[in-house]
Amino acid sequence: MKQPFLTKEKAEEIIAKIPTPFHIYDEKGIVDNARELFKAFSWNKGFKEYFAVKATPNPAILKLLKKEGCGVDCSSYTELLMAEACGFSGDEIMFSSNETAAEEYVLARRLNAIINLDDITHIDFLKKHAGIPQKICLRYNPGGDFKIGTRIMGNPADAKYGLTRPQMTEAVKRLLDEGVKEFGIHSFLASNTLGNEYYPELAKILFRTVAELTEETGAKFVFVNLSGGIGVPYRPDQPKNDIFVIADGVEKAYRETLLDKGIEGIKIFTELGRYMLAPYGLLVTTAIHAKHTHKEYIGVDACAANLMRPAIYGAYHHITVLGKENAPCDHVYDVVGSLCENSDKFAVDRPLPKIDDGDILVIHDAGAHGFSMGYNYNGKLRSAEVLLHPDGSFDLIRRAETVKDYFATFNFMDEFRAYR
Ligand SMILES: *Cc1c(COP(=O)(O)O)cnc(C)c1O
Repeated sequence: MKQPFLTKEKAEEIIAKIPTPFHIYDEKGIVDNARELFKAFSWNKGFKEYFAVKATPNPAILKLLKKEGCGVDCSSYTELLMAEACGFSGDEIMFSSNETAAEEYVLARRLNAIINLDDITHIDFLKKHAGIPQKICLRYNPGGDFKIGTRIMGNPADAKYGLTRPQMTEAVKRLLDEGVKEFGIHSFLASNTLGNEYYPELAKILFRTVAELTEETGAKFVFVNLSGGIGVPYRPDQPKNDIFVIADGVEKAYRETLLDKGIEGIKIFTELGRYMLAPYGLLVTTAIHAKHTHKEYIGVDACAANLMRPAIYGAYHHITVLGKENAPCDHVYDVVGSLCENSDKFAVDRPLPKIDDGDILVIHDAGAHGFSMGYNYNGKLRSAEVLLHPDGSFDLIRRAETVKDYFATFNFMDEFRAYR
């Protein structure tokens, strides 16, 4: 059973001020989870989580995580600006971009962010446009299949990211010539992983590579960035990852692969997005139609423009009908949004309690890659975001878009001046 952090009473109180649909985030859940992460990795001096901004790009969330000791992982000009506005600078910003534009590197250098290079040709590009910093990270792509045991977890050979193993050696040598003093290494080989083995396996690969590169080039490595990829159980019957088991696995690899080779003082960094936020966000929506045709449909006031994972990946997101948490799931519905796209379905053939018009539905695990993947198809407007505080009070942390926002990019045209 997945229990939402929002009760029907609280939802009604919020809806009286902020109409559905909106995303709501649970401050207590976010903070407690972040503290557990830091506790799990406390064996590593200098451990730092760089929250992947793309997962939930909201200043209130970024500031909340900053207070817990997190930095930010940015990959675009706008994300860097948001990081700057929220008070992040220098080593608190990891810039893990790809196909990077010159002005993005210029901004990253101005903020003194740690730059994570995605390709060997970016050495010259960065040098030309923004200059080479003293500390730099390289994104490694080992190619082939990424397997844990016999299970294929990812397919790096098909991924556009990172440098090959020979390029890693060449890049480190080039960067040493350019005056780089400290290196980091990064890799992202599998997404939304469950089962606790991903980070330890990835860590083994990266630690081994650090040991090899140190021996080959004499370069000084100071951190290993395990990036994102720790998953969350979207389905109620899936087991939750245990961050302490994960961190212990990374420590074991650290001892066996680095300490045994005499390499010390390597900091562990992470760039988690989903794991930090997904379970602590709900998309709150109201049932507005019940349609009985070849199937039973419940039409809601949210659509794929508010949460696109079901439409594009067929992703499962659990749904709770508030006030009917303990009612029998004796109806089978497709819960659908209003886009003129047949993929706009939050749930297909989902057993749920009987739903009446006006019922409030919460769509679970929408706190990461939820609002942020939103879009304006069919002229749909992006929804509001709300932060629920531990004492039950709440703040609007992003207002919903209005038609004025939608028309803003036309407002130099006479017909749209009125909407300014
Ligand atoms: C998307 C992304 C992340 C976060 O991934 P999650 O699956 O949300 O943990 C981290 N680092 C980089 C470079 C990414 O692109």
